[in-house]
Amino acid sequence: MKKPYYIDFPQEAFEGQMHRYRCAICKEETTTINGKLSGHLPTCEYRLALERAGYEAVGSSVKSNCCEADDFD
Ligand SMILES: [Zn+2]
Repeated sequence: MKKPYYIDFPQEAFEGQMHRYRCAICKEETTTINGKLSGHLPTCEYRLALERAGYEAVGSSVKSNCCEADDFD
């Protein structure tokens, strides 16, 4: 699964430069990231979390079944 743009990561403004933003986790500037997962550092938690969720991986689907009513005895 792929998304065209990965822009839902936490962002913060550069100090004193309110028009420039960076990833709050890996500190890469948004213009460097450019909407790409690979724009984040390999150690970025946001990137790692999406990779674990199957993004940019071939043939995996992300389906949540967290809220099924299962009975545990
Ligand atoms: Zn990042």
